[in-house]
Amino acid sequence: MADRYLSFTATAPGRFLTRRLGLPQPAALRRWSPEHPSLTGSLLHLTAGTTALDLAPVLARTGLTLDGSADPAAIVLDATGVRDVDTLAEVHAALHPVVRSVATSGRVVVLGSPLDAAADDHHRAAVQQALEGFVRSLGKEIGRGRTVNLVRLTDASAAESTLRFLLSPRSAYISGQMIGVGAEGPEGTVDWALPLAGRTALVTGGARGIGEAVAETLARDGAHVVVLDIPQAEADARRVAERLCGSALALDITAADAGERIAAELPDGIDVLIHNAGITRDRRLVNMPAERWGSVLDVNLASVLRTTDALLAKGALRTGGRIVATASIAGLAGNAGQTNYGASKAGVAGLVRSLAPRALAEHGVTVNAVAPGFIETKMTAAVPLFIREAGRRMNSLAQGGLPVDVAETTAWLAHPASGAVNGQVVRVCGQSLLGA
Ligand code: NAD
Repeated sequence: MADRYLSFTATAPGRFLTRRLGLPQPAALRRWSPEHPSLTGSLLHLTAGTTALDLAPVLARTGLTLDGSADPAAIVLDATGVRDVDTLAEVHAALHPVVRSVATSGRVVVLGSPLDAAADDHHRAAVQQALEGFVRSLGKEIGRGRTVNLVRLTDASAAESTLRFLLSPRSAYISGQMIGVGAEGPEGTVDWALPLAGRTALVTGGARGIGEAVAETLARDGAHVVVLDIPQAEADARRVAERLCGSALALDITAADAGERIAAELPDGIDVLIHNAGITRDRRLVNMPAERWGSVLDVNLASVLRTTDALLAKGALRTGGRIVATASIAGLAGNAGQTNYGASKAGVAGLVRSLAPRALAEHGVTVNAVAPGFIETKMTAAVPLFIREAGRRMNSLAQGGLPVDVAETTAWLAHPASGAVNGQVVRVCGQSLLGA
């Protein structure tokens, strides 16, 4: 279902009327396309406090110019050196004069230190935590399709894939988020044009919706994609796979031996495992039969646990592998009628945080999750009009996201250069007011 309000506010009378009425003013977001792969314009690099980061070489490779010209497409503020309230004031001093000039659909990325680096200095801990409130608040007021995010890091090269992603049109629907990046940089050379060339990616629930967009995006990045879906959706899975020169696998992911069947189907192993298949069976708890509870927990959580365990135990995920699971802001915020779904998606976040360090240490595999907000799919098109309108507008970008927004986030997490991003649950929600 097209977002007619967004089209209306893109016209001059629409802009005039909605401004007069004090209604939301969503900006048409600029997304990745082969013709426009990067933001265009300059990048302003600012610092607050004394920093030890060597950012310049990484920023020089973002595709943005570093000439300090007016109306930047993006600002990177290095606040890793903020250690007390006085140096925190430098965040205000740096951004106050320039934030208005950031281009429509531009980016503000604030860099902070990992919170554990400030564990025994409560002044530093306070002001590093303060950056989160700052970023979330600026994200809510900046408008015009511009986004504001915080990256906690210690090493610029380990964060290159993350900075490139956040400073590009691929991150159009991510705002108000905190992303932690570890210190281990990528080994060897990185093919930024076709990062997944020669790699195999399995996408569960890939026959339609968000999964289909994920399959397309991973194929764009060079992966051989295996589109897994239930046998009833086999024709759609084949259609997607053929278009992407991949393959299809008809399999109900809740089958007890699903992991073994996948491993048998892909004897050379998997590089990227995307747990996208998911279902809803909404009812308030008082009206929810055990069957509705069980089916949602089985597809959304138990099968993710089972297949992950089986594939890791069999060594089917190659070293350097990536697991990306799908949570939801309903799991982080809770939603009436979705105790089963909310539990399953919060469970995904718990799985990711617990498994990530061990999977990396024992298998060389990262584990992260995407947590979509309101995404324009068949599922959300079926939501009653007023609830749908509320879902679309109740975020800082005042519009729903597209499946491709989740797909681009997944592709960044699946990137060979994203090995330092582990155990993160990244919301793709336009900074939804829910569970903020
Ligand atoms: P969708 O219903 O359009 O697609 C889900 C796909 O998963 C379908 O192709 C379906 O056949 C497949 N699937 C379901 N059960 C399966 C099983 N047992 N085995 C194999 N495949 C199975 O849903 P979507 O909107 O594209 O959502 C994709 C994921 O994103 C889900 O995990 C969903 O919970 C999550 N999500 C979606 C939104 C949104 O706004 N659409 C928001 C938050 C989270």
